[in-house]
Amino acid sequence: MQKFLINKEALSVNKAVIQGQDAKHICKVLRLKPQDAVSMTDGHGTDFTGCIDKVSPECVEISILTEKKSLTESNLDLTLCSAMLKHNKMDETIKQITQLGVTRWIPFYCKRSVPLSGTQKGKKQIERWQTIARESLKQCRRSCLVEIMPPMDFQQVLAFSKGCTHKLAFWEASDRSLAVTVPGENNKAVVLIGPEGGFEEEEIRCAVESGFMSYSLGPRILRAETAAVCACGLIQYLLGDMGGS
Ligand code: SAM
Repeated sequence: MQKFLINKEALSVNKAVIQGQDAKHICKVLRLKPQDAVSMTDGHGTDFTGCIDKVSPECVEISILTEKKSLTESNLDLTLCSAMLKHNKMDETIKQITQLGVTRWIPFYCKRSVPLSGTQKGKKQIERWQTIARESLKQCRRSCLVEIMPPMDFQQVLAFSKGCTHKLAFWEASDRSLAVTVPGENNKAVVLIGPEGGFEEEEIRCAVESGFMSYSLGPRILRAETAAVCACGLIQYLLGDMGGS
């Protein structure tokens, strides 16, 4: 059953309201009727089940039956920092990392980023990424939205990483294997993936000074989008919940 996202304002005691495209989808595509069951989340880790009271293409009114903490969220707080890529390449990354249970995503500008700081569509771009994250959440039945942070510069990313136990910079010139990582006390990881042109050595040096270690993803050069997904999947396997319980 598809999971619908309800915002806190639309949630009153034991009642939820779904409007907009989701209401249209429930009514016209899924053709759900009063008494049918729906599965929902608040996007902050709580799941609900409910029963439809009234349905129209504009608004679906639901009685909440159960409320419980989600079982689909990882115990790993994982931040992916992706160097800004050309065109809409970041869109696919957001879809994939939502499925992989990433906690937050930080796009950043570095020396070889092709899109230059200030040339992106700003607020509109972030809203577009947030919409993609919301749609992906519903598809994969997660209960926490990926937090999409506004673009940062490289120094801000390094400052953000303070307090993370695992600081991993993926660099094709590294020969360190991810297999050496073991869960720490504070299970908080931050991952750096470079742009199409890769990181400059100077950037890796700064990252290492800030406590990062550089890691390899093997002998082949992966596209930045592939590297992001591969790194997050492997880290979720080693430190999070993809290796089973
Ligand atoms: N321009 C670089 C080159 O040709 O050597 C390749 C950059 S790669 C397309 C983009 C990013 O993906 C890199 O900055 C790195 O973060 C990551 N990446 C790709 N392949 C990797 C590998 N084999 N090991 C570690 N990181 C890798």
